[in-house]
Amino acid sequence: MPAELAGLLACPRCRAPLRLLDGGDLACSAAACPSVPRRWPIVRGVPVILDEASSPFRIASRVAESEAPKPSRWRRLASALFNAKPRISRNVAAARNFRRMAEMLAAGGGGVGLVAGCGAGGQGIRYLTGAPGLRAVNTDIRLLEGVHVVADVHMLPFRDAVFDFAVAQAILEHVTDPWKAVGEIRRVLKPGGLLYSEVPLLQPVHGAPADFWRFTPYGHRLLWSGFAELAGGACCGPGMAFALAARGFLTSPFPRGIRRVAEYVCDWLLWWPKYLDGWLAGSPGGTESAGAYYFLGRKLPDGDEGDDGEASM
Ligand SMILES: [Zn+2]
Repeated sequence: MPAELAGLLACPRCRAPLRLLDGGDLACSAAACPSVPRRWPIVRGVPVILDEASSPFRIASRVAESEAPKPSRWRRLASALFNAKPRISRNVAAARNFRRMAEMLAAGGGGVGLVAGCGAGGQGIRYLTGAPGLRAVNTDIRLLEGVHVVADVHMLPFRDAVFDFAVAQAILEHVTDPWKAVGEIRRVLKPGGLLYSEVPLLQPVHGAPADFWRFTPYGHRLLWSGFAELAGGACCGPGMAFALAARGFLTSPFPRGIRRVAEYVCDWLLWWPKYLDGWLAGSPGGTESAGAYYFLGRKLPDGDEGDDGEASM
């Protein structure tokens, strides 16, 4: 575990500093801390820091999942062939927004950021995390390749105000309590830190059963009310939303197995509406029927809800 990462970590329950034990585990330094368990493993260099008393996730299952045998070569080949099809989704704003963030951060001398729920890597994120002078701490609830800390975004194991930027790209629909997750991301950001968030609106259920919410642009703005808005709008437009809805309409009569084949056919038929989104996503009507929204903001001091909250309702 790099020294810089160790300096950012804190107990997810009481936020006291962590200490490294002789056996290689991490533990909360507060004697009266009610966290369960009292020590957290470092698995293949990645700390797995979950308070099982307040999180539904279990450390043992996270570790076991990461140690499951990889699919056979033939299965991977079949999967690659199945996935060699046009995508019907397209993000028209992420790359531009991440480049803008990287430029703003570079102008301030660089910094370290949190990528919450990084998964296998969000669209366009490389323009931010690969920029010179910027370092990212990738967190996810799964111990995936590229993850630096396994953590629950409802109780982040980081000290207050340590990050210069944070990214929550397409994760807030997957958390049980978006307000709590947003509060945690805000807590670990420095005052003035940059925040980038994306959420879906017109999209079918994905990642079931862990898909709980959809957000209008106004609801998304309300969630991040502790931030001054620098930019916001549709990142996936009505073209993509139309293709997703059409695919759902055309495939919904079929049972599960056949539906996957029908979806495959639809992906070949509906590859094109997304290319209208470069134009439609910025139009007033297109914004209201968007597939997803983004918000780029700057953390306000505590107690300051901004001056544009009421005006934008
Ligand atoms: Zn503690």
